[in-house]
Amino acid sequence: MVATRLLVVEDEPDIAEVLQFNLERAGFSVAVERRGDTALEAIRRRPPDLVILDLMLPGLDGLELARLLKRDPATSGLPLVMLTAKGEELDRIVGLELGADDYVTKPFSPRELAVRVRTVLRRSAPAQA
Ligand code: CA
Repeated sequence: MVATRLLVVEDEPDIAEVLQFNLERAGFSVAVERRGDTALEAIRRRPPDLVILDLMLPGLDGLELARLLKRDPATSGLPLVMLTAKGEELDRIVGLELGADDYVTKPFSPRELAVRVRTVLRRSAPAQA
């Protein structure tokens, strides 16, 4: 069994570390990218099973990164879970239009995030569930 590979794109080291720790404990294989542009390169090089995407990122912001992924047939089916700060309703709506599969609002419960990740994976790949 190969572990499901998640890519966390988050520039705040504390949050990235909490995400990685909890998602690895939940059984996922987790890589972290701190910038939007390097994340895009990493995804194109080797697409993960799901991307957890922060919105405010250096290099390329989360919405632009999502737009580029959805536009490219090679990555358009890649499940996306977006991290938003409380009250960023506009970003949430734009993100939904861009095809985000789910949202987690900061501050979030790591356990809730793991559950949401599993749900999105199940929905996007029913044959593997
Ligand atoms: Ca950020």
